[in-house]
Amino acid sequence: MSINNHKIESPKDRQNRHKAMEAVKLLNSIKEDFKHPIKSMDYFYDLFEKVYCKHESLHDDKVKIGTMCIQIPSEIIYALDGVPVRLCNGFYTDDEIGSDLLPQKSCPLIKATVGHFASDNFTDRPNIVFSPTTCDQKTKAGSIIEHFGHTVIDVDFPRTKESEESREYWRRSVRKFTENLSRFQGKKLTRKNLKNAITKVGYAQSLYHEVSKYRQDEIVSISGTDVFLLTNAFFFDKIDKWIEAMETLIDELEMRSREQINVANKLSPRIIYTGSPPVFPNYKIPHILEQSDAVIVADETCSSNRMFNDMVAVDEWLVNDMIDSISDKYLKACTCPVFTKNNDRIRRIINLVKQYKADGVVYQAFAGCTVYELEQRSVLEAMEKEGIPILYLESDYSPSQGGQLSTRIEAFIESLKTRRRNKK
Ligand code: SF4
Ligand code: SF4
Repeated sequence: MSINNHKIESPKDRQNRHKAMEAVKLLNSIKEDFKHPIKSMDYFYDLFEKVYCKHESLHDDKVKIGTMCIQIPSEIIYALDGVPVRLCNGFYTDDEIGSDLLPQKSCPLIKATVGHFASDNFTDRPNIVFSPTTCDQKTKAGSIIEHFGHTVIDVDFPRTKESEESREYWRRSVRKFTENLSRFQGKKLTRKNLKNAITKVGYAQSLYHEVSKYRQDEIVSISGTDVFLLTNAFFFDKIDKWIEAMETLIDELEMRSREQINVANKLSPRIIYTGSPPVFPNYKIPHILEQSDAVIVADETCSSNRMFNDMVAVDEWLVNDMIDSISDKYLKACTCPVFTKNNDRIRRIINLVKQYKADGVVYQAFAGCTVYELEQRSVLEAMEKEGIPILYLESDYSPSQGGQLSTRIEAFIESLKTRRRNKK
């Protein structure tokens, strides 16, 4: 316990206060720094404030299904009347708590996720957790979380993607996940509830694609930091509210596009962002990039683009066929470097560069994330071959690294600007 303003402050209150300070610092800086703010982004700013500063629950009337990674199909959770709550965490406060429990060299996202469970300061505490065996650290984190009194169920994930065997292996895992969740919820999947859920999630995905169209234009109507915020909101928001807010945002982007309102400058380099996922409020690199006169026009990360990229393609609207189609979509869309070969990721980055007329790529890996660190060489070589400038950065959640990163980012942006000028 510590004394603050003559009141006794419990460790939990202190952690919540620190997290609220992290959240407010980022939100204020986003709101104040960028020219021509978007009015309808207020919904998302308020949502993060509500959850992380006021500690208001969004789902106290629902069963919360915690997901340790993007690979758990939200369509099946919605169909079985649960709410998916993605547990990937971006708070430095939680990272510090997790640092006392895990090896120092662990990935900050894992430390923060474990730290969150250790401090147990959830606004929407998960009733059960599903943990896909993707990267080694995620896999181990699931079993560590169990020690804090949570029910954690592993979902076997293949480490190869191309073979028929891995496809079948994953389909079986998703069927087993469905059985486990169905038993937990005491509900059955029906054609109707699963079709409705696929349709709703598909519609949410289509809204993300609508927003992305405005980022392909020469005049960019929305910053990359704002887009990370709205995609991160999808981790935990009520889906109907999120859809409504996105529809309002699209109307405003249409108006901004007609009025040629640009969030960047004419010479601002257009960036594709890839690597370890930016999770609120750890937007350190995206934020430095956009404060240094670049604009992120698209990304290849699991906290944004990868969640919305591929749609479920159903041939027959029968329960088993729908489950298989959902499984295929999740495996196909995943370009996480946990796979042995990951050529899809390279292809996707190159396509994004072309589609969004980008000037360069920024590849960020969390210190301690071996798979993103290991994959940097193949991505760097592929970009070099294509003549695409790329900057590789290693970072963590600590607030102290800013100056060093800024210098490298600014030098990269200057080189992209010179390249642009020379092209004219
Ligand atoms: S980086 Fe990979 S393992 Fe980690 S949350 Fe994203 S998709 Fe899952
Ligand atoms: S950033 Fe790396 S270590 Fe962390 S969850 Fe993703 S793949 Fe795993």
